[in-house]
Amino acid sequence: MTAQAFSAWASCRETVACRICASARFTPYLEARGFTIVQCSACGLRYVNPQPSIAELQQIYTVFDQGSQWRSGEEHFNLGVRSAILRFKKMGSVLDIGSGAGNFLRCMRQAGFSIYGVEPSRAGSAYAVSEHKIKTFNGTIEAFLSSARHRQFDVVTMLNVLEHLKDPAAVLCQTRTLLHEEGILVVVVPDARFHAVIGQTRRRLGVPDPFWMNTERHPLVGFDPPHHLYSFEPRTIVRLLEHCGLRVLRVQNAPVIFNEDRWKNVAKVILRAFSEVLHRLTRGHLVLGYSTLVIAQEQ
Ligand SMILES: [Zn+2]
Repeated sequence: MTAQAFSAWASCRETVACRICASARFTPYLEARGFTIVQCSACGLRYVNPQPSIAELQQIYTVFDQGSQWRSGEEHFNLGVRSAILRFKKMGSVLDIGSGAGNFLRCMRQAGFSIYGVEPSRAGSAYAVSEHKIKTFNGTIEAFLSSARHRQFDVVTMLNVLEHLKDPAAVLCQTRTLLHEEGILVVVVPDARFHAVIGQTRRRLGVPDPFWMNTERHPLVGFDPPHHLYSFEPRTIVRLLEHCGLRVLRVQNAPVIFNEDRWKNVAKVILRAFSEVLHRLTRGHLVLGYSTLVIAQEQ
């Protein structure tokens, strides 16, 4: 969809307070594609504000649901997330929220886990069922939560999902109820701080479109309105999880997802190596990378 198409919806958008700290004070951070990303003056969370209505989001995702978003080259990412999980859970049941075509769940099944998916896209869930024989609930996480009825899992994953949700705090608070006692929640979100450093450096150098907002195949997706309504970084995602009654067990750089663009993949490998060096040099204190993986448990 074009910025012009989005602007037709502008009058239906709603200004919201910060979902982490409830502060209504914010400053504009970035204007892109007919949307404004603001930064909370209290906790630093960056988010789209005013936010699209449910009707506008449905329109956006109807266009998105063409099947073309199913990525190839996910294997490296899936194996990396699986090994992070295996440090805490060696077996059990996994629920993947936003399970797409089921590639990650298939990877978990190969390690002996029982698997279940929730996916709002009809094309994605149909593919997961027909190609991978994965039990998949075709609907939103909100609809699944109201239908799940006390079903619980050892591992619940939300991989590149939270940034898309209109109210991630409400969903996370309810998602806790899906965890078995000692169950773990695994979250991956883009690291906005990392993408901000690159974008702001390009802006200072006078590069036009420093955040690649106006290119079709933008190489960085830290800021991606309107698909990404929130742009987390390690400190804000940790704060959100704690706000929702979760205890954070581990924060690390997430493995990267490769695609068909070879140069972009090379850039990702270099950036990932840079992130790992920073992480090691600071003895694990600095997590600054393409995206962040967090493991949490009920408090
Ligand atoms: Zn805030």
